[in-house]
Amino acid sequence: MAAHSPAGGSESQHGLDTTSGCERAGFPLKMDTTDERPRMDTLNPSIIESWHAHVYFDASSRETARALRDIIATELATRVELGRFHERPVGPHPMWSYQLAFAPASFPDVVSWLALNHDGLDVFIHPNTGDELRDHRDGALWLGRSHVLNLAALTE
Ligand code: ZN
Repeated sequence: MAAHSPAGGSESQHGLDTTSGCERAGFPLKMDTTDERPRMDTLNPSIIESWHAHVYFDASSRETARALRDIIATELATRVELGRFHERPVGPHPMWSYQLAFAPASFPDVVSWLALNHDGLDVFIHPNTGDELRDHRDGALWLGRSHVLNLAALTE
């Protein structure tokens, strides 16, 4: 027997309110598992060695980006390795940028913090699995607006 039941007993098994958000908007979270269609090949997330978050900016948002970097250096000091402040496009990144590198175990803390505190800047987040093209092209997450990457830079 479970040690404790939630008071009131109206919560779902995982304590999530499944009637809100996407599901209510018409995107059911449950998948039909009875059909016979071929299953897609899946990758195990354990192949993710680390994550990067690249904060994008330009001449007009330079000071905002600099200020955010200073705050990150303090508030996420134990979670991320901060890269250089590039005032030019580097690699596949079409904007000026700086990089945060972090371990998979830090993903919830770092991405949650950035989601609430990116200060209007666009942030490109991708896993590192050893396949650069797939990581940047297919594994991309964005805060704010998305941008078109220069993927050719990854195969040069
Ligand atoms: Zn990166």
